[in-house]
Amino acid sequence: TKEGVNKPLTPNSQIPTADEHYLKIKPQYSNSFSAFVPVMTGCNAFCTYCAVPYTRGREVSRKPQEILEEVLGLIKKEYKEITLLGQIVNKYMTPLDDELEQYIEKTLNTHGIQPDTVPELQDADYRTHKLFKFHHLLGFVGALPGDFWLRFTSSHPKWFSDELIDTIARTNKIPQHIHLPVQAGADSTLRRMLRPYTVDEYKKIITKIRTALPEAALTTDCIVGFCGETEQEFQQTKDLFTWAQYDMAFIGQYSTRPGTKADLTMEDDVPHDDKERRDRELTDILRSTSEGHNKKLADKKVTVLVDSIKKRKGTTYFHGRTEGQKNIEFPSPTPDTNLVGTFVKVHVTQTLPWSLAGELV
Ligand code: SF4
Repeated sequence: TKEGVNKPLTPNSQIPTADEHYLKIKPQYSNSFSAFVPVMTGCNAFCTYCAVPYTRGREVSRKPQEILEEVLGLIKKEYKEITLLGQIVNKYMTPLDDELEQYIEKTLNTHGIQPDTVPELQDADYRTHKLFKFHHLLGFVGALPGDFWLRFTSSHPKWFSDELIDTIARTNKIPQHIHLPVQAGADSTLRRMLRPYTVDEYKKIITKIRTALPEAALTTDCIVGFCGETEQEFQQTKDLFTWAQYDMAFIGQYSTRPGTKADLTMEDDVPHDDKERRDRELTDILRSTSEGHNKKLADKKVTVLVDSIKKRKGTTYFHGRTEGQKNIEFPSPTPDTNLVGTFVKVHVTQTLPWSLAGELV
């Protein structure tokens, strides 16, 4: 709001109390096949451009039993896509107390899951250090019966552990897609943003992901024109985009969030025209890498979660997303078929830079 402009936010301002906390709010889902399940809220990272730590408060991990009951309810209602949600979702962690351990054992029993098919629950963090971390949660939810995709967002490179990569690689329900926000491709820009990793460290994680999940689509978030970003720094971001060969990226032109550290201590000094140009230049690289990945899907049969239906020039089309979150459209086989909310196989007949088209198999 206008009032907030240049008024310093303190780490305690505007923090919701436990009762107001959105983790306590009864979930509402916008449709009957795809649901977001909050697993944690708040953020302790304080990236200099971001207001979230001030508005959402410190990190709080939700009680695992609550998450799992919500997920089990969604599976029972045959939801097709469950997305675990958190500001830094991969920092999720709670102590493993006796009550939780018994709950997990009981749930495994109820669903006839052999404990050794969830290797996450045998590791030292779980067994010895009595911690229930994000990869434990993910491995456990992924072992539950049901026909659904298990996604999660947003991840932070700093906490993208080898254990997490292993869990993603061995859990069939997790689609072949990793979203890993980088925000900038120069160490100096990352330092000003207070992002606690170097470009080299980020690249090492991508290399591990590419090795463990060679088919996975890779997407990112990136800011252009952050305070003080030089042409040389921007060039390094372009180099990273060329190197990483992203399938998709959300590119944002920097704009000040009132009360953040960047607002109070830095100058938003990259001219608007330069931000526009940098956005275009990065988008050009992305268009070519995205198109390259899409071309590899030509003539392939892909699994699609159908999310909407529309009519164009008298023909009914379905729209959906692939495992890699690619938009795909295909004509309805008959005028009154309804496939929204189901998984289908689509034969890819056309590839475009940002989307695919095909025919129902
Ligand atoms: Fe936290 Fe993400 Fe905001 Fe950084 S950008 S402060 S990690 S919510």
